[in-house]
Amino acid sequence: MTAAAGLYPLGNASTAELRAAGCPPREFPSGMAPQPVPCELRRDLRRAAEEYSQRVGGGVRGGMRLYAKAAVLCATAAVLYLSLLLYVSSWTFAVPILVLLGICLAGIAFNVSHDASHGSFCRSRFGNRLLALTFDLLGASSYCWYRKHNVKHHGYTNIEGEDEDIQVGLVGRLSPYARARKFHRYQHIYLWPLYGLLAFKWHLYDDYRDLMKRGMIGRVRVSRPTGREMVLLVGGKLAFLGVWFALPATQRPIGAVLIAYLVVAFVLGLVLSLVFQLAHCVEETKFSQSISTESPFPLGWEAHQIEATANFACQCRWLTWFVGGLNHQIEHHLFPRVSHVHYPGLAPLVEEACRRHGVRYSVNESLWAALGSHYLFLRRLGREGVLL
Ligand SMILES: [Zn+2]
Repeated sequence: MTAAAGLYPLGNASTAELRAAGCPPREFPSGMAPQPVPCELRRDLRRAAEEYSQRVGGGVRGGMRLYAKAAVLCATAAVLYLSLLLYVSSWTFAVPILVLLGICLAGIAFNVSHDASHGSFCRSRFGNRLLALTFDLLGASSYCWYRKHNVKHHGYTNIEGEDEDIQVGLVGRLSPYARARKFHRYQHIYLWPLYGLLAFKWHLYDDYRDLMKRGMIGRVRVSRPTGREMVLLVGGKLAFLGVWFALPATQRPIGAVLIAYLVVAFVLGLVLSLVFQLAHCVEETKFSQSISTESPFPLGWEAHQIEATANFACQCRWLTWFVGGLNHQIEHHLFPRVSHVHYPGLAPLVEEACRRHGVRYSVNESLWAALGSHYLFLRRLGREGVLL
């Protein structure tokens, strides 16, 4: 393995991280797992990473650029929160500020919580773990997020029954292998506002359900939280209740606090859902059936990740800044432990490697094109009653 391959690790969580998360890595389909086909694509992706590394002088973290962005987002959220708490008393001013606060919190989730959870925000493992706790302040347990996002979603992207990001229950059909129901034919109309319920689902249901469960993620057994993890988890829930409800209730009537919560959580859920949907649930991406076979990734793990993912609006600098590089989702899925500030630089090299190996590298050129593709995807899947 070259130096750059070590600097730019392909694949998901490291062995140590998986062990720490209670997920034995033996059978985890990371980029380092044995593959049924000779993976020349992996070799070329490593070469691409090496070439990029030499060009920028090494390093996989975001450095000052990322720290400055995080500081701007956190300071903006604090100013908006305090102004609502102490100064703004008219709903005419409060509603736009609440919407801005929801957008700002989504920016923190993308740029700080998500990166830290992947271990890519800063050099220090402790620092990343500490910053991943910002998920708890947003109401989503960082403990559950790691298992659902880093292990399930990144390990088994767009695989029916494994990737929770494509499971929305009865209400919608986000995979051609999910059961179709008659009312899904209208999902391209009614699902959009329902995306705003994501944060409520975290707050009221998901984390508690996940904690009750003990079982398998794909072919990996997941253990229940240990004592220290449980303390952090409960502490995170109490901190969330304190920041979102208890502290505001000391300054404002409880009815106003509840309305404010509904607005902020709806905007937060809507923005987060849309960004994740535009990367995986569009006309250009591939889906697979539940993994039960010996080789769940017949073309190799990297090719699976690339074809199950699409980039969007890569030239749009403000969007790339705000969504923490998640519009370069292909590079994120290949190099999740590399800071997102490097994705635009890695993208042309990854695209070239894909072209050489005949792997489809999908990009929607603009945000509108991606939204249109998601609309057509929802409409097509809602109308199809049979497997593709
Ligand atoms: Zn991720």
